[in-house]
Amino acid sequence: MSNELKNVLLVVSGPSGSGKNTLLNYILENRPDSVHSVSATTRAPRFFEHDGVDYYFKTTAEFERLIDEGGLIEWDKYRGNYYGTLVSDVQRKIDEGLNVVFDITIPGAENVKRLFPNATKTVFVLPPSIRILRHRLVCRKSDDEETINRRIEFAIRSEIEKYRDFDYVLVNDDLDEARKNILAIYDSLTKPDCENTAAAACFKKDAFAEHAEETIKRIHEEVMNDSFQNNA
Ligand code: 5GP
Repeated sequence: MSNELKNVLLVVSGPSGSGKNTLLNYILENRPDSVHSVSATTRAPRFFEHDGVDYYFKTTAEFERLIDEGGLIEWDKYRGNYYGTLVSDVQRKIDEGLNVVFDITIPGAENVKRLFPNATKTVFVLPPSIRILRHRLVCRKSDDEETINRRIEFAIRSEIEKYRDFDYVLVNDDLDEARKNILAIYDSLTKPDCENTAAAACFKKDAFAEHAEETIKRIHEEVMNDSFQNNA
């Protein structure tokens, strides 16, 4: 794959429950020139998922063959399963002239950026608080209590501070606002000089850093006070 692309590769990452998936879907629903990168994974399909639509579901042997054959742009292990971005899937979408949006782990985002530094823009979605993150994970009903606690601990210990390595950062406290803002970022990248460019600039990492740091400070205070555990 050439690393000099005209297409935009927009990578959205953040802790599980930050709402990144909802925001990414909003772009896909509203911008016909965008398309989702469909990853390969070894995790089992959820009851509503379809092979080739949500993921390409692979056995471990098939996935490891993809790694060996150079079939993946990047890959990562998350909670014991492999996840990876397929060269073939992304190449086809680029050839069709589409802008590709990715919902991948934080190390995955860093790898796509390293490989395609000019085409890739990365967005980090921060949760407004751990109490809200926990509430979303509980309402999603896809994890048991222990898994939710592990996800939260991982978010606090290893994820939230990583926003500093991203191009843009959003705090997903008001969903309508966050949707509007992610669309502004997408538009400013795909149609430079559009009316959304100024709005998007507010969410560039450096412009937004003060607000992001306040959010992180609040999260650490919540942890110290243990005030998020039983409020879901
Ligand atoms: P889930 O199992 O909930 O669908 O996804 C688990 C995690 O894997 C999410 O954080 C998602 O962003 C990440 N993920 C999905 N596909 C890929 C991929 O191709 N590469 C990487 N690095 N992460 C992925």
